[in-house]
Amino acid sequence: MVQKDSQVAYFCMEYGLDVRMKTYAGGLGILAGDYLKGAKDHDFPMVGIGIKWKQGYTDQLIDQNGKPYDSYHNYDYDFLEDTGVKVVVTIRQRDITCKVWKTEAFGNVPLYLLDTDLPENPDAWITGQLYGGAGEDRIAQEMVLGIGGVRALRALGHDVDVYHFNEGHALFAGFELMKERIDQGLSFEEAWEQTRAETVFTTHTPIVEGNESHPLDRLLYMGANNGLTIEQLVEIGGAPFNMTVGALRLSRKSNAVAELHGKTANKMWAHVEGRSEIIPITNCIHIPTWVDENMLRIAEEGGDLWEAHMKNKRDLIDFIEDRTGVKLAEDKMIIGFSRRAAPYKRSDFIFSDESVIGPLLESGKVQIVFSGKAHPLDDTGKGIVRSLVKMAKKYPNAVIFLENYDMTIGAMLTRGSDVWLNNPRRPKEASGTSGMKAAMNGVLNFSTLDGWWPEGCNDGVNGWQFGDGFESDDEAELDAHDLKALYHVLQNEVLPTYYDDRDKWIEMMKESINSTRDRFAVKRMLEDYYSKLYATN
Ligand SMILES: *Cc1c(COP(=O)(O)O)cnc(C)c1O
Repeated sequence: MVQKDSQVAYFCMEYGLDVRMKTYAGGLGILAGDYLKGAKDHDFPMVGIGIKWKQGYTDQLIDQNGKPYDSYHNYDYDFLEDTGVKVVVTIRQRDITCKVWKTEAFGNVPLYLLDTDLPENPDAWITGQLYGGAGEDRIAQEMVLGIGGVRALRALGHDVDVYHFNEGHALFAGFELMKERIDQGLSFEEAWEQTRAETVFTTHTPIVEGNESHPLDRLLYMGANNGLTIEQLVEIGGAPFNMTVGALRLSRKSNAVAELHGKTANKMWAHVEGRSEIIPITNCIHIPTWVDENMLRIAEEGGDLWEAHMKNKRDLIDFIEDRTGVKLAEDKMIIGFSRRAAPYKRSDFIFSDESVIGPLLESGKVQIVFSGKAHPLDDTGKGIVRSLVKMAKKYPNAVIFLENYDMTIGAMLTRGSDVWLNNPRRPKEASGTSGMKAAMNGVLNFSTLDGWWPEGCNDGVNGWQFGDGFESDDEAELDAHDLKALYHVLQNEVLPTYYDDRDKWIEMMKESINSTRDRFAVKRMLEDYYSKLYATN
């Protein structure tokens, strides 16, 4: 039984609700946006807490030398409503006022966004750039989200049964919940226990460095301890203070975002004593945002699935021509790949052996469209973007790089491509949701068995896997293994099916849609969260 009566306050640093609202960077935000829309569609009681980022995340463009550069703009979001509520958070011993905005403009449950960009603030820049700072800047942002977020809920008069921290960024909300109780006279232990009873946590990254930690004196200097002593901080998050460890200890239950990620996360955090249990709940997507209804309908009721797909493919080809001047061929296969340029995702992997891939690009049999940003401070990631742009210059009619990846590009590519390539180093991809968008649009997944794909894949029936789930700590060995597998499956299965057996391809498209549409729809995810994570019995 799904309990739908828990009032949930969902905390997240980023929300991808709409391309006009630049409050997201990547998958975490897209998931959060889809979740709030699903909660509205299916009537789950929830509000979201986030930040109004004045400049959002970087607009990342490519210069004449093929180098990515970051550019920022101030955004006014005229669709936000002023709640009239302001709350104060003391950061570096200065009182910072946070104005609370609200939006329900995108078919979502109420989302409250905190904003420090006010003339009276000694530090108005805290909510300037999403993931713009590390260290002190990041802590200040997280104090606004967590401490300010709880104070905003109180000021708005929202009853909350469950506080859901989506990623460790929201952890300071737990400190505020403890402070409320300590101020009422409870002991540290009592306050911790009661706070834990109403808090749940979702962990997202299996990359060690992706789990933020801070020196204790920095937390004290910032005032992030919110009245807790240094010993108490250590009890919660260790030394240095790890935000994920803290969230695991401040929550009564946690989850990972796919079955495989559940195993990885439990291994990764096995050493943490007193932490909450980590269960798997696989991510999902909001179908109306990402999926062409026509494809869903035809896959269910019959009709010309190929023609419906070709319409989407032509739309993509026109979109690419508009943006780049290059017109791809509609009778040749298009492989789509859009992701953050993080090394483990291996965006340029398919180019590793040009003696294999070069002739396929030159003949036009394979066309590949890339998009993706690197984190502004990640030089390795920027190097990956550069190498993609270089390949686009070398094979101008077969390789495309679309700059400034956003929700529009994400939607276009996951509808109009023929194949969706995904080649992370297993098991580093927590879930991934772009493959779900593709699958439901009849775009066949071609992926290593990482993230959600081990659950979704029926090899050769609704898409393909390559690499057989091989893992190795030796990256060179893993890469060599996966590359061989990628080329083998591409040449022996994907290409022959596409060019020589269209009927089978269309059958696979249908299978792709019908095997994923319910299991990876946000309704299933909401039901799982309410019944497995939020429910107390
Ligand atoms: C869907 C989407 C993502 C998340 O997809 P992954 O598979 O996790 O990379 C990120 N960014 C945008 C713009 C998206 O549309």
